[in-house]
Amino acid sequence: MKHPRTVAVTAAAGLVLAGMTSPALAKPGNNGNPNNGKKMAAAVTAEAVMDHLQAFQDIADTHGDRAAGTPGYEASAAYVESTLQAAGYQTERQYFTFERFSVLESSLTVGSDPVDHIVMEYSPSGTVTGALESPAGVEGCAAEDWAGFTAGSVALISRGSCSFAEKSLNAAAAGASAAIVYNNTAGALNGTLGAPDPGYVPTVGITQAAGQELLAMDGATVTVHAVTELEDVETFNVLAETAKGRTDNVVMLGAHLDGVPDGPGINDNGSGSAAILETAVQLAKVNKLNNQVRFAWWGAEEEGLIGSWHYVEDLYYNSPEEIDDIATYLNFDMVGSPNYIIGVYDADESTYEAPVDVPEGSAATEAVFTDYFDSIGQPWVDTQFSGRSDYQGFIEVGIPASGLFTGADGVKTAEQVELFGGTAGVIYDPNYHTPADDIGNVDVEALEIMSKAIAHATITLAQDTSAINGERSAGKSGKAHPQGPLPTEEQPAA
Ligand SMILES: [Zn+2]
Repeated sequence: MKHPRTVAVTAAAGLVLAGMTSPALAKPGNNGNPNNGKKMAAAVTAEAVMDHLQAFQDIADTHGDRAAGTPGYEASAAYVESTLQAAGYQTERQYFTFERFSVLESSLTVGSDPVDHIVMEYSPSGTVTGALESPAGVEGCAAEDWAGFTAGSVALISRGSCSFAEKSLNAAAAGASAAIVYNNTAGALNGTLGAPDPGYVPTVGITQAAGQELLAMDGATVTVHAVTELEDVETFNVLAETAKGRTDNVVMLGAHLDGVPDGPGINDNGSGSAAILETAVQLAKVNKLNNQVRFAWWGAEEEGLIGSWHYVEDLYYNSPEEIDDIATYLNFDMVGSPNYIIGVYDADESTYEAPVDVPEGSAATEAVFTDYFDSIGQPWVDTQFSGRSDYQGFIEVGIPASGLFTGADGVKTAEQVELFGGTAGVIYDPNYHTPADDIGNVDVEALEIMSKAIAHATITLAQDTSAINGERSAGKSGKAHPQGPLPTEEQPAA
């Protein structure tokens, strides 16, 4: 599906809108034309970014969460759009669909006792009763593991050596009516079958301890009950871009707007969304830009980077010359973590080897952030250029990228405490992906540091990307268009 590029309103109309709707212009001391890094960093305030976060919190309070395809996501997008429109932008929704798996009900009963379990992602529905039986090879990965297995029994299988999908398919092939996979280490087993497949039997996961108990109950009557659903959900990205600046040398910023289900998603990733939103608002006041700036609020990142991949795939297959026109991509996924680091994606691999190919120009993009931090005496650290967020699709097609990150579920070190304060031995965001990721979970100081860095980098690159690709203002870049099939998606995370 090809969507037309957004065209922003004319400068004249933008001024009228700004005059009507932007009290910031009238405030004494507020610069009306923040056309350099220093002025833009001053123009983007923590107070304004927190106002956007409060709007997301209010939406979450009303709707429960802001997950992709939900009313809370729709309301979040509407807020972003109305804020952008008040600043003079036109906005575009880029729609796409994704498959959402959900468990509507489930139970696991052995004898007459219920057993704690999870239904594995992509398990089919089913209600089956049978005798509990372990295959001869407890991991159930090889055909010979299943020799002598009784058709109709419920298979009890150990985690390990092969995927959960292979275990479920092998169980089905051996005639098992359902599969119970127990963990081979302490802790809950939170598994996925990876993708839908008609060959699976209903498949659940249990802890290692529960597995040990069940191993001693061979032949007991087991009932596995699962009602699952795989539905196509439609959602969208929100896109906007400046009317000014070269359209063949675009600086792009992105943040995912969706949160995880059952939580407000304020640090992850209301924070990045709010920071680039306020940057867009302030950027609209700049009289002259050499390079166009495009903003994206991605949908369904938490479902597997789906919105950003959709955007890149759409360009790749329908207008590859526009890939060539993107000078660099800046990603912001969590910039207000309570036990924060000031992290910059380590594109030059000075600290961490990247598990992905890092496009040329990424190191120069990273330097825009680190030079800024150095210039104001702000300590910073590298975070791995892992591809584990919405920049993955961009780097796969060779677009340079970097970004900022205050940390998720990594553990803060004593050295990082010396640089940034906080608590060593505790993860950067103790409320990561939980219902407690609310407005109180945001460190305003970290948010301010990062928001100003985003603002500074944005106007710096909007005026000059020569360090990245040799482009200063007028003229056409000489980059080659991408060719061949698009590299496949990899396992996402944050
Ligand atoms: Zn995130």
